[in-house]
Amino acid sequence: MEIMQKAPAKINLSLDALYRHRNGDHEWRMVMTSVDLADYVHIRPAKTISVTTDSGFLPEDPRNLAYQAARALQQESGVHAGARIHIEKHIPVAAGLGGGSSDAAAVLRGLNELWHLGYSREQLARIGLRVDSDVPYCVYSETALVSGRGEIVEPLGKLPQFWVVLAKPSLSISTPRILRAFDYKSKTLCPDNDKVLAGIKQNDFALMTAGMANSLEAVTAQRHPEINALKERLLKYGADVAQMSGSGPTVFGLCAKRSRAVRVYNSMKGFCREVYLVHTLG
Ligand code: ATP
Repeated sequence: MEIMQKAPAKINLSLDALYRHRNGDHEWRMVMTSVDLADYVHIRPAKTISVTTDSGFLPEDPRNLAYQAARALQQESGVHAGARIHIEKHIPVAAGLGGGSSDAAAVLRGLNELWHLGYSREQLARIGLRVDSDVPYCVYSETALVSGRGEIVEPLGKLPQFWVVLAKPSLSISTPRILRAFDYKSKTLCPDNDKVLAGIKQNDFALMTAGMANSLEAVTAQRHPEINALKERLLKYGADVAQMSGSGPTVFGLCAKRSRAVRVYNSMKGFCREVYLVHTLG
């Protein structure tokens, strides 16, 4: 018996870091959505937990977030079974696209089924928070307002129609390093989340994009000028809006029209090795 779970990449339509908790955790308010670029997580019954990947770059041991998710579920439920987990990797690693978190969430959903645990999405999200702050969102993998330390996930329903061009510069970002460098007092970028939410509710693409911003972008862009260079290119070629996802370095452009997105995608390919034209899920 094998269970296969799709683990889609996420992008942050908005990301606001509100304050730092005493223990160092951040308080977030962000609108996230998932796109049709995905890893595939294959899960088979086994006596112990093991993880393999086809990537060559990722740890295949307890450092893998998929392994940590399986372990967290095992501990929470008290089951003694294990699982053989294989990850078919398509999402670029350490890119701001939540690949590891999405794999972890896929493991939670898959093992919930394999081990007949019957946990709700809310329960899986709570368990997932022990692995990473993006895992609760990835348990849902549908457009949502995410707040708290990442554990409060409020699905938002359908988005206005648009296409997404992802451009990943060839550099990897350490999220903890960016978060350590983030200074709340000199925060320069702040989304208008109410506008983003109103745009989604009213199916108004222009209103949604008018509120978008990513508070972490200034920190990453200051260290890596490629971020602003890619954003400028996306806009120059016709994207309606361009922004960094998560802590970067992937930058995305949104286009209301597919023909425009195809043009942006083809033009970007000349400047960036990893470019994807994707659609939001659902
Ligand atoms: P985040 O913003 O949540 O840190 P990201 O999208 O920037 O995520 P990931 O691809 O999730 O980056 O990788 C972050 C780190 O997690 C990398 O250092 C990677 O080695 C490690 N990692 C552990 N397990 C996985 C996995 N299954 N897939 C990807 N990365 C993983």
